[in-house]
Amino acid sequence: MSEAMMGTVCAIAAVIGIALLGSRSSGPVSNGFPWQFRLAAQLRTPVLMFVVIPISYAQAWYRTVRMWTRAHEWNGHGAMLAHTKNVEKVVEQIQAWIVADRPGKLRTARPAWASMSTKIGCKTDCYKIEMRHLNRILHVDEDNLTVSAEPFVTMGDLTHALMPRGMALQTHVEMENVTIGGAALGFGIETNSHRVGLFQESVLEYEIVDCTGKVHVVTEKSDAELFSLFRGLWVLLGSWFLSRCV
Ligand SMILES: Cc1cc2nc3c(=O)[nH]c(=O)nc-3n(C[C@H](O)[C@H](O)[C@H](O)COP(=O)(O)OP(=O)(O)OC[C@H]3O[C@@H](n4cnc5c(N)ncnc54)[C@H](O)[C@@H]3O)c2cc1C
Repeated sequence: MSEAMMGTVCAIAAVIGIALLGSRSSGPVSNGFPWQFRLAAQLRTPVLMFVVIPISYAQAWYRTVRMWTRAHEWNGHGAMLAHTKNVEKVVEQIQAWIVADRPGKLRTARPAWASMSTKIGCKTDCYKIEMRHLNRILHVDEDNLTVSAEPFVTMGDLTHALMPRGMALQTHVEMENVTIGGAALGFGIETNSHRVGLFQESVLEYEIVDCTGKVHVVTEKSDAELFSLFRGLWVLLGSWFLSRCV
């Protein structure tokens, strides 16, 4: 075996050894727990080091590269065309729900592990609407300082898109996996600006699909009452105020 290979093997063995020692330092888990739970608890350090962190890292890179490759679409017809098709997919699912005689409450199909909500709830008996494909930034208007984006765009996506242009949202939630749809509807709870308030208070426009499958675009001007009721309905597209960073 060459010296380089020996070195690599030793380095890997050292990392695995440290990970296993780290697991042991978490102490014994009560025998009252099922064996699967105890095994998972003992192995959590190596699982985090060798599985969770690499997957999270790869996922973050995937999202960043996807955002870069889509940047040329912003402000063009391409993104809006893709958005129209994306919305149609949601409308079709709502129509299928109606045809099936409305079996269960409507919920997003986003799995609980991906959600950053304080109240997750059980979606087992619900009718899940797949919406994760709604993840495009559609338009960045540098003159009027607004951004239009689909609801599964995350705060991290917006950071990568806006910061290089010297801009940020007026209220920019610092947790990068929080989606703009989730923060607007599930309620951004902490990040706020003393001038503009919580994240959801900087939304200018919502596009919604209602429970009959109709699509509406609502602003404070077009329907003030409905606009103020949005936290709890289906949102597809929102326009947000931007702040230019100085
Ligand atoms: C540990 C922790 C720290 C937090 N820190 C902050 C913070 O620093 N600042 C802050 O502002 N907030 C913070 N929050 C709150 C967080 O912003 C909200 O819980 C937010 O709702 C999470 O967004 P999400 O993308 O995970 O949404 P989800 O969990 O996916 O969704 C939240 C709710 O909105 C609904 N929803 C989501 N998208 C849509 C859609 N497109 N159409 C219809 N319904 C939809 C979901 O069904 C669900 O009911 C924190 C939460 C946690 C758990």
